[in-house]
Amino acid sequence: MKILIADAFDKSLPGRLAKFGDVTDDMGKLGEAEVLLVRSKTKVTPELLEGAPKLKLVIRGGVGLDNVDRAACKARGVEVLNTPEASSVAVAELAMALMIAIPNRLVEAHNGMKEGRFLKKEIKRTELYQKTLGLVGIGRIGSEVARRAAAFGMTVLGYDPFVKEHPVARLVSLDELLAKSDYISLHTPLTDETRGMIGAAAVARMKEGVVLINTGRAKVVDENALAEALRSGKVAAYGTDVWPSDPPPPGYPILSAPNVLMAPHIGASSRENLLRIGDCVVAILEKRK
Ligand code: NAD
Repeated sequence: MKILIADAFDKSLPGRLAKFGDVTDDMGKLGEAEVLLVRSKTKVTPELLEGAPKLKLVIRGGVGLDNVDRAACKARGVEVLNTPEASSVAVAELAMALMIAIPNRLVEAHNGMKEGRFLKKEIKRTELYQKTLGLVGIGRIGSEVARRAAAFGMTVLGYDPFVKEHPVARLVSLDELLAKSDYISLHTPLTDETRGMIGAAAVARMKEGVVLINTGRAKVVDENALAEALRSGKVAAYGTDVWPSDPPPPGYPILSAPNVLMAPHIGASSRENLLRIGDCVVAILEKRK
């Protein structure tokens, strides 16, 4: 089996895959590859597939398949698999990190110290304890966040049309979630239904001063409506790891909006997660031996 590792996986992976055949990271060998491993960087397009006549399997190390043209793969008889279960804890911990950093004003406090300003009197923190968290999308990652937020003493609400019961969150309508939440964290995939779901109308139904966290997909949010809500203070802060592209275009409104805490799409990039993704890739290839 000829395996081409196109993107950044854990550095132990080539060694672990050697038992399945020849392993390379040389994109020049695409024409010989039977298995292609991608994360987010490589786009599996019809053009790429044209250069890969022997390809039988694409494995995306991660949750979504946004960078893989599944229809084109299907037409070519190329199977597509991913590793959706690996990343839940890594992404949930980043969502919690954003949700903790914002009310504790950690970036401002840190920057003040660096600049020689001791902001002890100026910085007033708020607590997560006894606040209400609304999770939009309560699948694998949303559920990991739910458990952690409950441990912080938060009341956890969930909106997910495909989930009928949940051990931690009280399931409510989207309207109720928007109206009652002090924090809202987004954990849906990007679909026709979720694209732009958090727009001007949704923002209007939220509490004044709500904090929005997004480790799902950038386009679930209408960036113009959100930038306006940040400027007006209706949304007190936006913590995000996700962008319309990696990196976002320079004029993307969120980059210049106030009270935004930004991460460069690192939700899945924990060391432990890269190892877990590697375990999943090995398990997939093991089954096909
Ligand atoms: P999942 O499939 O386990 O959960 C997604 C949930 O969203 C499901 O329960 C589904 O029913 C729900 N959903 C679908 N449409 C909805 C709608 N219209 N309204 C409300 N809920 C809806 O997926 P997951 O593993 O929890 O991952 C969630 C998302 O996180 C992924 O789709 C991906 O976009 C994102 N993600 C981001 C990173 C990152 O690096 N920041 C990494 C991995 C995944």
